[in-house]
Formats: sequence, structure tokens, C-alpha cells
Amino acid sequence: MPFGPTTRAFLREGFSGARAVGAKSAQQQVARLAELRALHEAFAWFRSHARELEDRQLEVTAIPAPPWGEAARSHWLKTRFQELGLSEVHQDELGNVFGILPGTVADAPYIALAAHIDTVFPAGTEIIVTREAGKLYGPGISDNASGIVALLAIAGALRETSIANVAPILFVGSVGEEGEGDLRGMRHIFQQRRWLDSIATVIAIDGAGTDTIIAEGLGSRRYEITVTGAGGHSWSDFGVANPIVALARVIERFTRTPVPAAPKTTYNIGTIQGGTSVNSIPQLASMRVDTRSASVEELDKLEHALREAVEQVVAGMPGRNRKEVLSGEIKIIGDRPAADLPLDSRLLEAIRAVDAQLSNIARIQRASTDANIPLSLGREALAIGAGGSGGGAHTINEWYDPAGRDLGLKRILLLTLAMSGVGYASIG
Ligand SMILES: [Zn+2]
Repeated sequence: MPFGPTTRAFLREGFSGARAVGAKSAQQQVARLAELRALHEAFAWFRSHARELEDRQLEVTAIPAPPWGEAARSHWLKTRFQELGLSEVHQDELGNVFGILPGTVADAPYIALAAHIDTVFPAGTEIIVTREAGKLYGPGISDNASGIVALLAIAGALRETSIANVAPILFVGSVGEEGEGDLRGMRHIFQQRRWLDSIATVIAIDGAGTDTIIAEGLGSRRYEITVTGAGGHSWSDFGVANPIVALARVIERFTRTPVPAAPKTTYNIGTIQGGTSVNSIPQLASMRVDTRSASVEELDKLEHALREAVEQVVAGMPGRNRKEVLSGEIKIIGDRPAADLPLDSRLLEAIRAVDAQLSNIARIQRASTDANIPLSLGREALAIGAGGSGGGAHTINEWYDPAGRDLGLKRILLLTLAMSGVGYASIG
């Protein structure tokens, strides 16, 4: 679908209440938004539904969502979106869940509010969910059940109050954000023409808190390097090229690669395996390597260094004959693009204005989130927390404290509406 005129204008210069109110600063726009009676209705909705949101959070946490196993949660979220009366509720072939809150301008591009629904916990992990002294406990309760619940709260408040968002709001539950999921859900969404052409802005809600703005996507690339050879008996085949020795030489060579302090760039040899027994020359050895940087160029340099190290080492260990030649293979097992939200972007201006309005203090951070994908495609995107506080992320002792969830929800709502625009004509 080609862009309509409204979408083209949006992608070129942004689209917001700014048009309706003239060239006001983001701060003035947000201040005006916060004064609307309908906004106060929404804030009251958050308070009156606090207990219900906690119940939903416990409920969704109890549904296992291991990497590549999010189906039950997708189904649960789809049902919630339907109950909320969102339009075009559906899930795609990966399990990403979508629901739309139409805006007053039909062909305006979407402001997407996204929360990942997967957890890091493998299938079979025992999930015990409890509420004790006002706190919620359970693996994934904060990361990212709190984000999922934020979607429901924003959709609920917008549906049940008289706020008229101008641009439509797309609610997304994404799969495969964590670890080796490698952002596959969000990546897939932006591979679909429909979404690529219609989503202008992504606000990812990830974990608890209100003190960060993840506006810088940390890039990472991960590799599995496998060296194979003829193998043999340690005594009688002595001299056959040894894959473990080859890997050791690759590591020695690769880890001499200089990396800059700025942009911060790192590498890690994370796992190494191979071999059969102490008296066998191994037929195979492999390792996993993680590289990270704020700069794609530095990731490319590290990849080049890694490939060169493998090639040179393998070429330098020819063995005694052709049958004994080693071979090295490099497989990319993860690739998260690096990209930053420009400092003069409207989205960054808007979140700064929202934080000032709410007297909230937040600092910009770099991390790898669902926002990486739209950022790498030149879209405005960031990740913020769902409010409240949490701890023990990625452990089975994870907890969430709903005190302060309000602030997080107000922040998300104001930011969403600052980006979508609100039909001012309807308010007195
Ligand atoms: Zn997360």
C-alpha cells in the first residue's frame, strides 16, 4: 500500500496537535493536554482499576511464555484486546498480537504501543505467582507482565473516557524479544508491507519504572564458530590438526582486536565446547561469541576481525594431507541493529516535555529492546517503563511493586497522545 498524503506528511514532518494549536512548543502542547478534563478522567480510571490491573498482571504471569512458546499468552492477550473493544484484533503467524484504536483522521499513520510478551524462562520452569503485602511475585511479573498490563490500562482508559486521539493507536504484543529470540517478533512486524508503511512511531513498554528513556539502541551480533577436522587417536594419529587448538588460536588472535571506548564496543567468548575424550583428537570444537556496540561500523569491524582470525588459523594448520584439512564455519546466531533516536526528534522532545510536566526525572539510556528495529529503519522509537518498581529480572524471584504505577501510566498516556494528537475541538 503506498503512503496516503497524510502519512507522507507525517513521515516527513511529524503530525500532532501542533497543527491544531499552531507552532507551540512540545512543552506547551503537553501542558495543554494535561489540563483536559478527559485526561483527568483517564488518570482517575488508572486509580479506580488499580486492583484489576494487578489481577491481570498475576494472571498473565502465570501463563508460561518461553522463547518460541508464546502461543498461550498470545491467545490470552488477543482475548483481552477483544474485550476492550479494539478493532481488527488478530495475531500473525508468529504470535504477535494486534489491536487498533481508530483515530479521528482515518489514514494517519499509527502510533504503536508495544510490549513484548515472551519471557526468558525455558519451558517447564515452575511458575509460582503470589501477592504478598502489596507486592506481586513471579518470574516475568515485571519484565514484561507490567508492560503488557500497561497496554491494557492505556487501551481501557482511552476506550472508556472521552479522549479523541487523532492518529490511530496500534496496540502490539510482540513475541521473541528476549535473548536468542533476537527481536524476531518486532523484526517480522516491520517486514510486513502493511506495518512498514503505516507505523510512524513505536513506544515500547518494557519492565517497571519511570526513570529511564531508552532512546539509543544497543546493537549486538552473536556468532557460533565451529571448527571441524578428521579427528583421531591421541597417540597413533598424533599430528592430525586439532579443532580445539585451532579455536584457541582463533580466540587468541581475535581478542587482540582493539575496540574503542567511544562508541563503547565489547566482545565476549561466552561458551566453548567440543572434544570426545582426553585421548581423542577432537573432530569438532565450537564457541559462541557476543559482540556489542553503539555503532554498526564497529560491529562490522569486529565481524571482519573474527572472520579473518578463523580463515588465517585454519589456513595455518594444514594437517599432514588433504583429508586432515580443518574447516571453519561462522554462523550468525543473533543480529540486533544499532541506531539512535535523533536528539532533535519529536518523540524525544515529547517525552522530555511529559517528564517535565509530571516532575519526573529520567535519563537517557542505551539498551537492546524492541525499539531497535524501528530505530534502525529510521522511525522514531524508544522504550520506557510501565511504572511501579521491580527487581530480580530474569530470575524466578522477580517481583513488582505497583506503588507508583500511576505515574508510569500517566507518562505513557501523555506521550502517546502528544504523538497522536488530540481532537481539541471536542473540549470546552
Ligand atoms: Zn523486557
